[in-house]
Amino acid sequence: MTDALTDAQTDAQTDAQTDALPWTPELAAADRDKVWHPYAPMPSVVEPFPVVGADGVRIRLADGRELVDGMASWWSAIHGYRHPVLDQAVRDQLDSMAHVMFGGLTHAPAVRLAERLTAMAPAGLEHVFFADSGSVSVEVAIKMCLQYQRSQGHASRTRLMTVRGGYHGDTFGAMAVTDPAGSMHQLWADVLPEHVFADRPPKTLTEEYAAHLAQLASRHADTLAAIIVEPVVQGAGGMHFYDSEVLKVLRALCDEHGLLLVFDEIATGFGRTGELFAAEHAGVSPDIMTVGKALTGGYMTMAAVLCTTRVAHGISSGEAPVLMHGPTFMANPLACAAAYASTGLLLEGTWREQVAGIGKLLTEHLEPARELPGVADVRVLGAIGVIEMQQPTDMRVATKAAMDQGVWIRPFGKLLYVMPPYVTGEEDVARIAAGLVAAARASGE
Ligand SMILES: *Cc1c(COP(=O)(O)O)cnc(C)c1O
Repeated sequence: MTDALTDAQTDAQTDAQTDALPWTPELAAADRDKVWHPYAPMPSVVEPFPVVGADGVRIRLADGRELVDGMASWWSAIHGYRHPVLDQAVRDQLDSMAHVMFGGLTHAPAVRLAERLTAMAPAGLEHVFFADSGSVSVEVAIKMCLQYQRSQGHASRTRLMTVRGGYHGDTFGAMAVTDPAGSMHQLWADVLPEHVFADRPPKTLTEEYAAHLAQLASRHADTLAAIIVEPVVQGAGGMHFYDSEVLKVLRALCDEHGLLLVFDEIATGFGRTGELFAAEHAGVSPDIMTVGKALTGGYMTMAAVLCTTRVAHGISSGEAPVLMHGPTFMANPLACAAAYASTGLLLEGTWREQVAGIGKLLTEHLEPARELPGVADVRVLGAIGVIEMQQPTDMRVATKAAMDQGVWIRPFGKLLYVMPPYVTGEEDVARIAAGLVAAARASGE
């Protein structure tokens, strides 16, 4: 254990947790009246549960209940909540500055984070553009692809190829490469650019599927700038795991047709699938990679786009020799400090056994759910566990069943799934699995 950790822990012990703002009926009423929650109508029909604190792998609700977090706050809180090292890193950064603009200015937190990310990333990714959310990083990645092609004299190459079942975010550019079925594309059919969609990649690569990809790529090569996919794990588009060999096929097709390969590692990055980046399952390097979610260990919103020197120099020698993008909060120093501390914890290396351990326990405890009525599939990869039902679940029923076991999950559609913080202990992993199985049982009734 590092000195930093012991010092920080001592600090954490001396300054006891400040009480959160107490939750009141007035706040509950204002939440209903004023606050729009994600993927929800306004006013909301399902009341959210008020949280007053979170510590380690537990979320504390206003009514005193403590829930073991099966979601790591949407893939992000990989080291758990109130981690002494992350807390200290943010406090230390606060002592010098919370934020300054990044246009015309720079700072050590951003530079050292960029150095670290390029050192951790798959080979060839040498440059970093910081963004303020995952969706924005996907927008930037798409812009890079189009601008790169334009710089090479291919102004007509403005479309992307992707696979069905993908999810790349909720902004318009990202939505256009997200699976049309899952993202309410029909609402936006008239406003979204039309990209090229291949079938969902299979669990095991077949010659037919490789031929399908090859055919699409060659048919549309004249208008394609790039191929974008989530490597190995499709997250919000179905929690689907596919053969990493597909990535090799995509790499070869990109090279053959002069396309850029973009890996969206926003969900899969930083160890979640058992490798630091999912691309490593195939030993394939993309030309552009997006990261987000766990980048700051779940402390702050931040994402990044990494690219090769070929892409960077291509764009920078083109007709508009700059990348026209610059979020106001680009490279926010507090977020950089959190990300540097979080990646520092990863570099210590324990995540690998933690993720493997969680995967093993999830497999053991979830596998029996296969026999339950209404269960279509059970699958585990890295520290991700999924029970897929035959029918869409009632979110309220499934959530309540897990909460009765002391576990927080957030199912969608037919999918009950967990991706706990890496620091989750054995008993808590077992509890999370029990919560998920209880949700499956309640949903299958
Ligand atoms: C969550 C996610 C995004 C969008 O990130 P936000 O920070 O929510 O904008 C994009 N791609 C993938 C693969 C994601 O999982």
